[in-house]
Amino acid sequence: MKLDDLKKLEKKYVVPTYSRIPVSFVKGNGVYLYDSKGNKYLDFFSGIAVNSLGYNNPFIQQALAKQSSKIWHTSNLYYIEPQILLAEKLSKLSNKGKVFFANSGAEANEAAIKLARLYGKTIDKKKTKILSLENSFHGRTLATITATGQKKYQKGFEPLPSGFQYVKINNVQDLKKKMSHETAAIFLEFLQGEGGINLLDTEFVNTIIDLAKKYKILIIADEVQSGLCRTGKWFAFKHFKIIPDIITSAKALGNGFPIGAMIAKKEISQLFSFGTHASTFGGNFLATAVANAVIDYMKTHKMDNYVATMGRYFIKKLNNLKKQFPNTILKVKGKGLMLGLQISPKIPVGKIIEKAREKGLLIGPAGNNVLRFLPPLIIEESHIDKAINLLSAILTENN
Ligand SMILES: *Cc1c(COP(=O)(O)O)cnc(C)c1O
Repeated sequence: MKLDDLKKLEKKYVVPTYSRIPVSFVKGNGVYLYDSKGNKYLDFFSGIAVNSLGYNNPFIQQALAKQSSKIWHTSNLYYIEPQILLAEKLSKLSNKGKVFFANSGAEANEAAIKLARLYGKTIDKKKTKILSLENSFHGRTLATITATGQKKYQKGFEPLPSGFQYVKINNVQDLKKKMSHETAAIFLEFLQGEGGINLLDTEFVNTIIDLAKKYKILIIADEVQSGLCRTGKWFAFKHFKIIPDIITSAKALGNGFPIGAMIAKKEISQLFSFGTHASTFGGNFLATAVANAVIDYMKTHKMDNYVATMGRYFIKKLNNLKKQFPNTILKVKGKGLMLGLQISPKIPVGKIIEKAREKGLLIGPAGNNVLRFLPPLIIEESHIDKAINLLSAILTENN
């Protein structure tokens, strides 16, 4: 269908929650996407950190095809082999905990919030507060927009669930003020994505660890965007000396097939007893067959090390770009292949993103005027060079 016809139909029939970019992709291959007009794009956004293994990865395709010819869904009333095998893999890669499967990041975080409330009550009926960080992002359900420390996501949806409180990122004073015996859990993105590629600093994390121990507070790592090798380690928390009580995952886990997971340390996971939480689709055959293949592929190809190497190369190139355009680029941010450029407030990132797209490079925004890069983890140096050359040309035009 022609793009103009699609636009008209969309306007008539789809709820207008998205302001669409006027492009419709018809196929993908590796790190490239092709639109309905035959244009080719180098993808440095991966469907918002989802297509970590690129497009049409034959290993992942075969896993889905093979499973789809056998069985898709039975409900969680029965044993589901790929689900159980996936749980074992996720457990061993993260905190040795037990896994609850959902269909998205927000749902994985909902499960974590519910579990944290159950946990708090085992100690004191007043221990119900959930802390999160300013500028965080945890999803779009009612509870997860409340956990999200950004007003713009909450506006209009009040009354919000109660018992949430926000801490200034990397601010030890504020943390000490807000953590108490009434706190059940604290939500952390060790590297904030939507909020602007903001990394937690070691002193802040160490204080959280100390206070969490003192007040018996659960530490929840939201690894929905930063997990699964994105930052050069299997999970972003592995850059710190910590093993979170609960870890949530989604985005890259299905490489485009919807799936979410919450992994909770064994003793905490037991608080979800039979019937206390559920998901009809959560962990079904198709989703978990794909996710098993994603993890197997990442393990075989040592994606954590590969991303760390590629990330260092990309960061070096971004720093060179910063030297070339010191008035435009204020800071290079992030880790691995979850990177950002803080752009001067004089130049709206939206403009740069649009120009990049016109030249065949897909990138996105984050936080307060940050250009965000989330390329497929399989990119090579030549792709990075190409992206940097395009950006350099765009910023030259802008200067
Ligand atoms: C994307 C994201 C979510 C929400 O995931 P959905 O699958 O859109 O519900 C939650 N937390 C973080 C850190 C994210 O980046």
